Amino acid sequence: MSPSSASLSAIRRKVESRERITPADALLLWREATDEEMRSLATQVRTRFHAPNSCTYLLMRIINTTNVCVAQCDYCAFYTLPGQPGGYVLTEAQIFAKIDELLALGGDLIGFNGGFNPQLSIDHYCNLVRAIRARFGDRIELYAFTIAEFLYLADHASLSYAAAARRLKQAGVRWITGGGSEILTEDFRRRHSKFKYTVAQFFQAQTAIVAAGLRTTATMVIGFDESIEERIEHLDRTRRFQDEVGGQESFLCWTFKPWSTPLGAALHNIEITSAEYLRHLALSRIYLDNIPRIRTSVLTQNERALEGLLYGADDFDIPIEDEVTQKAGATINLNFDRILDVARSLGFTPTYRHVALDHPPAP
Ligand code: SF4
Repeated sequence: MSPSSASLSAIRRKVESRERITPADALLLWREATDEEMRSLATQVRTRFHAPNSCTYLLMRIINTTNVCVAQCDYCAFYTLPGQPGGYVLTEAQIFAKIDELLALGGDLIGFNGGFNPQLSIDHYCNLVRAIRARFGDRIELYAFTIAEFLYLADHASLSYAAAARRLKQAGVRWITGGGSEILTEDFRRRHSKFKYTVAQFFQAQTAIVAAGLRTTATMVIGFDESIEERIEHLDRTRRFQDEVGGQESFLCWTFKPWSTPLGAALHNIEITSAEYLRHLALSRIYLDNIPRIRTSVLTQNERALEGLLYGADDFDIPIEDEVTQKAGATINLNFDRILDVARSLGFTPTYRHVALDHPPAP
């Protein structure tokens, strides 16, 4: 037996005995394990949390409230700088119409994702959330906002993260998701999004969000120019945060869409393969042994995302809109039955997860 196959056997035994793998183990798995081994180990970890053939899904819409942004991430095809042509801010009526459309289709989850627009204060967003709650009540839930927007809103209002979290919660916000995490290494952020907050600031904010009693998620995006070591560092930071603070109710990874972005041009608009995405999903499930819900990305992988259920995922969302990824090349399939049929053909029984009905018990 070669040294690496002996090490792989040791890692396999670790997973089977519910022992945690290390970053070095993760690197070896990535480099040496076959896809079939990754899939098998991820499925073992999945069954600690979920019945083998079960999975859940959401029907949701991302509303891009404004495309005006000062962050200038080089992987973004969505933003317009302040004062440039083409900038927009959605009105309350436009947002209500988008929510009405989603409700008519049977969906109940809205994700807000907008740019860092200096013209829009935290009070603007608090008023928007109040108006949505007043009109729609608990028929709709809001993944509002992403942590990236939260950081900007707090900063722009000169508020501590704790004070900003309190203010948003009072307005009716229940969730601040991990959106905007991309790759959580300081070097990655210096390379690609130097105006979008450091990793240290990200986790300070995440800690304040959890302390305020808001719900949150973990996210990740792969397929830029990050190294495997950077991906593992991201997973390791996420796992440590969950150990030390907790509160991340799910982990969602999606892939970089390169079209019309400066980084995409530099990388010749080449996307990673779905096979690589699925392998990463498996690694995430094995590594993140403290996050029960692992989600696979229909938005960026379309029907191939459903294969993620065989690589450790247990949940997926069916999106009807997200301008940020669509502008960079994502395509959306509104044939919901077709998507659900793919899950069924793989042996899973998808159950609708009504986020709007999922309220934690009163303290
Ligand atoms: S990814 Fe988000 S923060 Fe970065 S430039 Fe685009 S809209 Fe702004």
